[in-house]
Amino acid sequence: MPELAPYAVTETGSRGRKVAEPAPQGRSEFQRDRDRIIHSSAFRRLEYKTQVFVNHEGDLFRTRLTHSIEVAQIARSIARRLRLNEDLAEAISLAHDLGHTPFGHAGQDALNECMKAHGGFEHNLQSLRVVDVLEERYAAFDGLNLCFETREGILKHCSAENAKQLGDLGERFLNNRRPSLEAQVANLADEIAYNNHDVDDGLRSGLINLEQLETVPLVATHLQEVRLAYPDLPERRVVHETVRRMINTLVSDLIIQSESNIRAQGLNTLEQVRNAAATIAYSAEMNEQQRVLKNFLRTHLYRHYRVLRMSGKAQRIISDLFGVFMNDSRLLPPQFQQQQDVTRARPVADYIAGMTDRYAIREHRRIFAVEEVPV
Ligand code: MG
Repeated sequence: MPELAPYAVTETGSRGRKVAEPAPQGRSEFQRDRDRIIHSSAFRRLEYKTQVFVNHEGDLFRTRLTHSIEVAQIARSIARRLRLNEDLAEAISLAHDLGHTPFGHAGQDALNECMKAHGGFEHNLQSLRVVDVLEERYAAFDGLNLCFETREGILKHCSAENAKQLGDLGERFLNNRRPSLEAQVANLADEIAYNNHDVDDGLRSGLINLEQLETVPLVATHLQEVRLAYPDLPERRVVHETVRRMINTLVSDLIIQSESNIRAQGLNTLEQVRNAAATIAYSAEMNEQQRVLKNFLRTHLYRHYRVLRMSGKAQRIISDLFGVFMNDSRLLPPQFQQQQDVTRARPVADYIAGMTDRYAIREHRRIFAVEEVPV
């Protein structure tokens, strides 16, 4: 691995863990964080959580698990090229969606609506809650006791109100400071991953088609090149070849622009990174192309009536479950009944947020179906 750049996060410069632990043997602190994330139960549950398509809709669609792995791959490539801490970028990427509810954004919106009077529900904050509190794997502490820099990267967004409760971790949201470059890389790798795999999954599902995508410059350029170079290529391979080239273009553009920003901002230390404007970024032209693609996906895929029907179902399942547990907490599994919190709502939200798509559907049937449902 190349020597780290002077503005990269280093182990020795880390602000450490909440509970002090002996240094790891034979691996770095951030490798240890990554390993803890991979062995968590929240990570395994990502396999059965939706990205856009509900888990039972097909075996080939992305789930939050495969999405997280793709994000980690992209983040590591970028981090290595920029001589950043690859282990940290990987750990953040693998953990970034741990707090997601079942049923993707529809689920998150529904739970946030239910939690309005109880402090709301933000999935980034929930990812942090998973690694700080909810995982029960260690004798000496709750959660995974990750390094400050990993936790900082997981908390991508946060409302000012919540930031005030978070001490040193929330400080940057209040003082308009940036997280490490590794966190910025993971954040953009997330965007590159989902925009591109949503094109791929959208086409596979038949909800969008290649003709529609010809109106999107980022897709059209590569699509034309592929068709010209390989006139007889079957459609699925045209799609894969096009998406592959799109990811490559975005990653290359991001690296070149970010390198130029690093020079222009005169970055030499992590402290300078925190005080500068966002460093990891696309060129203006690629930013615009990416924006057009996002708009296309919003209009044609995320608001497709078949996606919306599933979102509607998801919202009903989540609000039904929330309502029933709030009314009678005796219906909760015992470990969630015992949890004492400022509000009774938080353990209910934790329970629901931790569900996989299929578990939520089954739990809904177990509670609401009149006929016998297997446990
Ligand atoms: Mg994500």
